[in-house]
Amino acid sequence: MDITKYARRQSHEVRIADCTIGSNHPIAIQSMTNTPTSDTSASVAQVERIAKAGAEIVRLTAQGKREGENLANIMTELRQKGCKAAIVADIHFVPEVAAIAAQYVDKVRINPGNYRTSNGELEALIAQCRERGVALRIGVNHGSLAKRIFDEWGDTPEGMIVSAMEFLRVCQKEKFDQVVVSMKSSNTRVMVHAYRMLAEAMEAEGMTYPIHLGVTEAGNGIEGRIKSAVGIGALLADGIGDTIRVSLTEAPENEVPVARMLTQHYAIREGEFDVAHPERYHPTEFVRRSNITTPITHDEIGDGFMVIESHTSNPTAELRAAILSLEDEKQPVVVKCRYEQTDIEEVAIKAAADLGVLFLDGLADGIWVDAPELEAEQVKQIELMILQAARVRFSQTEYIACPSCGRTLYDIEKTLAQIKSRTSHLKNLKIGIMGCIVNGPGEMADADYGYVGAAAGRITLYKGREVVERNIPQEEAIEHLIELIKLNGDWQEPE
Ligand code: SF4
Repeated sequence: MDITKYARRQSHEVRIADCTIGSNHPIAIQSMTNTPTSDTSASVAQVERIAKAGAEIVRLTAQGKREGENLANIMTELRQKGCKAAIVADIHFVPEVAAIAAQYVDKVRINPGNYRTSNGELEALIAQCRERGVALRIGVNHGSLAKRIFDEWGDTPEGMIVSAMEFLRVCQKEKFDQVVVSMKSSNTRVMVHAYRMLAEAMEAEGMTYPIHLGVTEAGNGIEGRIKSAVGIGALLADGIGDTIRVSLTEAPENEVPVARMLTQHYAIREGEFDVAHPERYHPTEFVRRSNITTPITHDEIGDGFMVIESHTSNPTAELRAAILSLEDEKQPVVVKCRYEQTDIEEVAIKAAADLGVLFLDGLADGIWVDAPELEAEQVKQIELMILQAARVRFSQTEYIACPSCGRTLYDIEKTLAQIKSRTSHLKNLKIGIMGCIVNGPGEMADADYGYVGAAAGRITLYKGREVVERNIPQEEAIEHLIELIKLNGDWQEPE
């Protein structure tokens, strides 16, 4: 890959109803419903809202045969109403539902972690997809790898690659190219590393499948937007990505303008930059370039730091090249970029996309978001959140909250707000807030505590990966979570 100038990775076209992704097509935007897929009118109305907001592709979960079959009604109603959004069914655990959904929708997503490849099931699904012109996504998630992969590789980017490549090789053998692939994680470092390795692994085997980008369980508000922008922006800056989903624990239509802002931000890139040490750009393990252990915000700059400012429309490449060409390889560096916008969200998203990767790659030691239209405290918060999203400095509780979907068993948006209001002052803690027990526990990854929907109105609490209390009535669950945090000595009283 040429890392000195912006160019998109070469991928081939995949057609999903009226939306074609890959090759030189614009990066498509997608989102996912959180209505029950068995509820036709609610699902249709939400798909329409998401499409109206500007998403070309909309996904619905199909957890069982009933939901799979109801996709027929949803598709009929959507098309009757003139909604042309490409519709995707999201399948986990029940391969038979993939075969049901493939009769109705435009694309089927399967997770290699919980889809059987024995008995020729994948080959049969491919044959069915080919016949109806349905696309397929091989959607690998950190935290839900198959047991045999987990036992050999652990929950690692390498395991994710092995998992995806197994399935892609079957597609290649079957000469089925209408396939998209993803490697999501809530950990931006794992996510970026996995996607970069995937691009390399595919290139080594002559595969040009388009790539779907996403950071899972990013949370909500500015924090969730920043986390998504750090991960997705890092890869778009590499030229990787043909379609993106920004996952927020908010109404799904809120995800679309954030995704649009990101794709537009990368629509024009200019400049060519010398890169002195390209090997640093793709580390197999995280190393910091300098001896600074905790990167700083701009109001903390002291002696010994060098400020490097961006002056072009390609700040990531420009700043990376400037750092890598320093004579003193250990020189601590503050990266500075100016944002004239008045909207805090826009500044936060663009700065996270431009600068976050320089911390993910261990290159920069300080951040300076030069935003004259924002207040000093707002800028400070943005800088701290970017450092946290890039996992180099943790200054507040991290929430790993799923975006919710048709499986969600409680009002996750409201619950996240309530948990945040009680715990956001805690330092160095990760709390997972997940909608369902099926995917939640795996995908909250390295959370210290987990709050997971177990059944309607019932919550199960986790400490790390261990269940601590099952099926607590939802009204009491937040108090139990606080008690659990106290019991383990992780509680501090708010200042
Ligand atoms: S964890 Fe959340 S988004 Fe994932 S399947 Fe469960 S409810 Fe849906």
